[in-house]
Amino acid sequence: MDRLTSPRTIKYIMEKYGFHFSKSLGQNFIIDDHVIERIIDGAEVGGEDVVLEIGPGIGVLTNALCESAQKVVSIEIDKSLIPVLGETVGHHDNLKIVNQDVLKTDVKALIKEEFGDRKPKLIANLPYYVTTPIIMLFLEERIPISDLIVMIQKEVADRIVAGPGTKAYGALSVVVQYFTEPSIVTRVSRGSFMPMPNVDSTVIRLNVRENPPVTLLDEEVFFLTIKDAFGKRRKTLLNALSSGFLKLTKEQTKLALAEVGIPENMRGEVLTIDEFASLANAIAKIKGATNGADNT
Ligand code: SAM
Repeated sequence: MDRLTSPRTIKYIMEKYGFHFSKSLGQNFIIDDHVIERIIDGAEVGGEDVVLEIGPGIGVLTNALCESAQKVVSIEIDKSLIPVLGETVGHHDNLKIVNQDVLKTDVKALIKEEFGDRKPKLIANLPYYVTTPIIMLFLEERIPISDLIVMIQKEVADRIVAGPGTKAYGALSVVVQYFTEPSIVTRVSRGSFMPMPNVDSTVIRLNVRENPPVTLLDEEVFFLTIKDAFGKRRKTLLNALSSGFLKLTKEQTKLALAEVGIPENMRGEVLTIDEFASLANAIAKIKGATNGADNT
């Protein structure tokens, strides 16, 4: 067989195994060796590392990971790729392939079973249709991983690293930056994939924080504050926060904004993560006081 990144190999696999690309599973395979090198370099995969991969496809990235890492576990949803992976990467004795949907897998249990107390690096060329749900699953569920090095749609990567006051800044930026320290590893053009997608990609690295960057009274109130502030982007904070999931009255919202010195007519898109934390703490106090009053 030719190199795994060669379109000829993909054609050979399609003929031998009757494999067809599934658009709905986000199957765009890497056909550029440099991209693989840049992912491995960006992820700094060494012989001490254990790796969890999502969506090995025909195994291009998997193969390189097995050559660099101590152990690799790859989760692939598509049953028709399992025999293909047997031929392309089955010879690696440090690889385990799990034929499952990552979103329906008890990943914490899988990590415990395969890696014990070690935190793997999550490395993947993610399917576009579930990029954000997969990233949020790992962060919100606090699945024990040290970093995520993932290839995602360029626009999503830009949103993740964006700062306050920019067009790309939104709830995704604040929430991902709360859990991790993000950085761009490399840009990848659409021509590096087969079939060629309609969008360009970016490899992003998210280093999971050991400790949160802000002190919160109530994490749920913090997330709801962000959701409300960006949910109605064109509204002022006063209007957005008093008509959203937090269920605050106008008076309560005015009180919270005044306590932290944020003008009522400001918009959420200019607040830093520290300002969101202060505001959420003021809201948590007001809500706590109201709940206390209700109970008496
Ligand atoms: N890693 C390969 C590469 O870079 O060439 C393939 C990447 S392709 C963008 C995404 C892969 O994820 C496909 O193999 C697809 O079948 C798989 N996939 C899609 N949804 C999945 C899910 N929910 N759970 C696990 N794998 C999934």
